[in-house]
Amino acid sequence: MPIDATQPYDDQNIFAKILRGEIPSKTVYEDEWALAFHDINPQAPFHVLVIPKGRYVSWDDFSAKAPAEEIAGFVRAVGTVARQAGLVEPGYRLLANVGQNGHQEVPHLHVHIFGGRPLGPMLAR
Ligand code: 5GP
Repeated sequence: MPIDATQPYDDQNIFAKILRGEIPSKTVYEDEWALAFHDINPQAPFHVLVIPKGRYVSWDDFSAKAPAEEIAGFVRAVGTVARQAGLVEPGYRLLANVGQNGHQEVPHLHVHIFGGRPLGPMLAR
């Protein structure tokens, strides 16, 4: 079920548990600001999730409340993951689902990186 993008942060969400090392993930990148790991149910040959280390429910929460340094660190981390995976020349797609209509399921901000094949039109019709 999609979440409400305005809900308070829940420390028991699955990505909070991954950040604390309480459940495993296939990490591809980590720095001061971000953790990136393979999606458990990949929708493309390359499907990685990048999450900020801070407690942010959604893109809305993050863009409104995060300090500039944290936003810069997170945005750079997303770019670095894609670059290190060799996705820049063939191209890739970023996606951040927000709230009900965006069908966001996990209430900790995550940016999906998709790549490894032509991804087709932006949205299913
Ligand atoms: P959303 O719909 O919220 O944008 O995407 C949530 C994503 O998290 C989905 O693509 C789903 O496969 C992924 N996901 C859910 N639970 C886990 C988990 O425990 N580990 C990993 N690696 N990915 C997960």
